[in-house]
Amino acid sequence: MKLPESEMSVSEYYEQIRKAQSKIQQIQAKCLHLVFEIHMYMWRPGAMQPQRICKACNKVLHGITEEETKNAWEEWKIQIQSPMALADTEK
Ligand SMILES: [Zn+2]
Repeated sequence: MKLPESEMSVSEYYEQIRKAQSKIQQIQAKCLHLVFEIHMYMWRPGAMQPQRICKACNKVLHGITEEETKNAWEEWKIQIQSPMALADTEK
């Protein structure tokens, strides 16, 4: 039986997170990762680097090229220097 959200305990929310993470892992395991985008990936707090991210399942993929890395950093530098870009991320 599913409780209304207002009556769920913290442990029940954690259980939902665990189930969702398991579901995501299943989807990522089946995905062929055919289409990717380059995004800044924060692999630990305060440390990020460009990575290939699968467009379908959001998994971080291996194999980013030197040129993709260079371009991503250039793009990122432009974005953080533009006040309009910052305004866009707040929407
Ligand atoms: Zn994928």
